[in-house]
Amino acid sequence: MDEILPPAALERLTRAHLPALLARMPKAELHIHIEGSLEPELIFALARRNDVALPYASEQALRAAYAFTDLQSFLDIYYAGASVLLREADFFDMAMAYFRRAAADGVIHAELFFDPQTHTARGVPMRAVIEGLARAQAEAEATLGLSSALILCFLRHLDEADAIATLEAALPWRERFIGVGLDSSERGHPPEKFARVFARCRALGLRPVAHAGEEGPPAYIRTALDELRVQRIDHGVRCVDDPDLVRTLAQSRVPLTVCPLSNIKLRVFARMEDHVLPELLRAGLCVTVNSDDPAYFGGYLLDNYRALFAAHPSLGPRDAWRLAANSFEASFAEPATKTRWIQALAESVDAIASR
Ligand SMILES: [Zn+2]
Repeated sequence: MDEILPPAALERLTRAHLPALLARMPKAELHIHIEGSLEPELIFALARRNDVALPYASEQALRAAYAFTDLQSFLDIYYAGASVLLREADFFDMAMAYFRRAAADGVIHAELFFDPQTHTARGVPMRAVIEGLARAQAEAEATLGLSSALILCFLRHLDEADAIATLEAALPWRERFIGVGLDSSERGHPPEKFARVFARCRALGLRPVAHAGEEGPPAYIRTALDELRVQRIDHGVRCVDDPDLVRTLAQSRVPLTVCPLSNIKLRVFARMEDHVLPELLRAGLCVTVNSDDPAYFGGYLLDNYRALFAAHPSLGPRDAWRLAANSFEASFAEPATKTRWIQALAESVDAIASR
């Protein structure tokens, strides 16, 4: 799309306006694993409803286990939490809880990842997963004015044959999802492992995205672009180790869906002050802010914006506006819809400047 120009009223905003701007500007969220929005309270409520035994005595004991050392230590607990999801109503309740939190943070559009293999491997029917999420999407649109789309993710620690079988099992609901992604343990599972299933997905008109360059090397970002032909990179922060790649990403404007709190919690960066997002923004990349697995990483979308801006005094209102504008540019919505959202963003800047 054409370059999005900042509204004139942005010039009148200072860092003092940041709390209002971050909270009230409309934004899209493009990197949220819906299973990662399961709060301990809901995990226990669903465990009771479905008579599932959990290896934790209480909500507090579960929350206390969220002391992750890396991606794998998180994934082990994440899969335990997802074990309470059995019926269509469980997927509906989980997604509605997320949509309510997101709407309170100013999210007007969300593109949700879901992991069918996490559920079908436990005997949960694909129908329960997709229909439950789809019913919540319709409810969120009607009651919260929040639009959304689904992106089916393949678990990369499993083999490609499993991914192909999962795609086939989901095809009766082809109209329910707009794209496919690649998540779970990155190291040792390069994108090219899934070249054939992604080729089939592209032929079906599905939008391809992939996690790359979170814990894995910049080479994984390159192969996600060249061999999977992804239209967005999820995370992608390790591109900073490859200046040529940074230039390529800036020129192509292939978006990165960056997740600041996740990166600190999983020790991709030691401190928020060390996060490279400001550097990538200055280099002209289409970076966006997202929450990844908000129930596990200490915050939803607005918490991510706040933590990032608190740790980086160099970031100002123009950067906040740019990140929100990028989130709309990077979305898979129709161009006319994006234009409407960018206009709503400009109006929110005007409203804050004229108070
Ligand atoms: Zn993720």
